[in-house]
Amino acid sequence: MHEYSIAYDIYQTARKAALEHNASQILRVHIDMGTLVMANLEQVKFLFQILTEEDPLFIGAELSCHSVEPSVHCTCGYEGTELYVCPQCGGMPELIRGREIVVTNIEVEVGET
Ligand SMILES: [Zn+2]
Repeated sequence: MHEYSIAYDIYQTARKAALEHNASQILRVHIDMGTLVMANLEQVKFLFQILTEEDPLFIGAELSCHSVEPSVHCTCGYEGTELYVCPQCGGMPELIRGREIVVTNIEVEVGET
């Protein structure tokens, strides 16, 4: 299931980052999600809750999503939001944003040990 693998990736990425920073608690996980990602955000959040509920690092952790509009880059130098045909040269631009899911930031508490 698409949403499940997305939620799982977010969980693993956040967990790894938290451990690298000696976090005792994850408060919030921020992600950028391209609007071309065909995923149900509510379902991703729901699955994220399920995946993290037995992990003490994630007690009460929230998932905060930021939508990213797609944009492209063309070999002629054009960058913008014309996704399919480059308005400068008529070529086919390459999608550089809009189809990705990136963990951009995690808010944590660091243990006093
Ligand atoms: Zn072009």
